Amino acid sequence: MIKINQNYLKLNASYLFSEIAKRVNAFIEANPDSAVIKLGIGDVTKALPTACIKAFHEAIDEMGDDATFKGYGPEQGYPFLRSAIAENDFQARDAAVDPDEIFVSDGAKCDTGNIQELFAPDIRIAVPDPVYPVYVDTNVMAGRTGGFANGRYEGLIYLESTKENGFIPELPKEKVDLIYLCFPNNPTGATATKDELAEWVHYARDNKALILFDAAYAEFIRDDNLPKSIYEIEGAKEVAIEFRSFSKTAGFTGTRCAYTVVPHNCRAYDADGEARLLHPLWNRRHSTKFNGVSYPVQRAAEAVYSQEGKAQTRALIDYYMNNAALIRKTMTSIGYNCVGGDNSPYIWIEAGSDSWAFFDRLLNEAGVVCTPGAGFGSCGAGYIRISAFNSHENVQEALERITKALTK
Ligand SMILES: *Cc1c(COP(=O)(O)O)cnc(C)c1O
Repeated sequence: MIKINQNYLKLNASYLFSEIAKRVNAFIEANPDSAVIKLGIGDVTKALPTACIKAFHEAIDEMGDDATFKGYGPEQGYPFLRSAIAENDFQARDAAVDPDEIFVSDGAKCDTGNIQELFAPDIRIAVPDPVYPVYVDTNVMAGRTGGFANGRYEGLIYLESTKENGFIPELPKEKVDLIYLCFPNNPTGATATKDELAEWVHYARDNKALILFDAAYAEFIRDDNLPKSIYEIEGAKEVAIEFRSFSKTAGFTGTRCAYTVVPHNCRAYDADGEARLLHPLWNRRHSTKFNGVSYPVQRAAEAVYSQEGKAQTRALIDYYMNNAALIRKTMTSIGYNCVGGDNSPYIWIEAGSDSWAFFDRLLNEAGVVCTPGAGFGSCGAGYIRISAFNSHENVQEALERITKALTK
């Protein structure tokens, strides 16, 4: 008899996006003439930078000629891309990361989901609340939790991000082994200072723990005093793995390119309590189960770091950040508490009511779709997330409608 992995049956049917779709479709059916504006999705809307498109095209032409054709590439990524990443994203910010500490992949979602394969089944795991659901669900699948009850999985330690702590969770009171952090945060848009990150690095060092740092939104940071990488913190390399992606920063959500940094001296412990390096283990996992990102995509990603590419991605992010600033300013001016939107494309808004009730209000009275915070965890119950990923015209129109609906 073929048996299933029972852990899959523990997964809380994440009804967030299907429930949103259901409510939006019902609204459209009842109001066929209304133009609904979607500010709910975490997907970019603008085209790839022209520097990336040019490099993409040229690489495809190389694939069409026997003399320059490429078959399987290195699983870890081509040296040209790993070097460009190390230089521009780390060394330029005084974070000493070597090209061969970088593993190029087809997504930070897969990487944050796959990395937990390296760890024992019985570790104690801390996840933020609200949370990017991948961190939780992949550990449920691996059998590291109990059942789902009252909005949470038994066995996980939830790091609460609340108004009281400025949406930066405090260190856990109990000992944990693996800590997921995401800054700038999805969904709250909150950012952590160097001092705040340093506390986590110290905790990890003192407790033989490991930090998984998701910096998918690092390039949205506009305040130069804020760290983009956890490796800007002294001592982080032994205790932290960092995830980055070209998805949100360069419009690669449909093109697919990301990377994970596993420093050479980053460690975890074996059954005898001996320190073991994680780099060779991830290298083994990556080359056994992954065959590399396509050559043209890696050339397109490399072009992000060319002079034109830098200017174009900067302009792309500025465009969304202009939306974000307008959302935050407007929502604040009509009396709502907001976090995010200054160094991130998400604005986390205190709804003053249940998040689904507020979602319905925005949909029915303004024809605007947001994301109810409850979908990201218990701490999101009184909040909604508005995303800056849309055209400036749509954002302006949405905010006019919201203002009218909420101030009448
Ligand atoms: C969008 C996003 C990612 C990026 O995922 P890709 O698979 O690289 O597209 C990673 N982490 C968070 C928190 C995100 O919101």
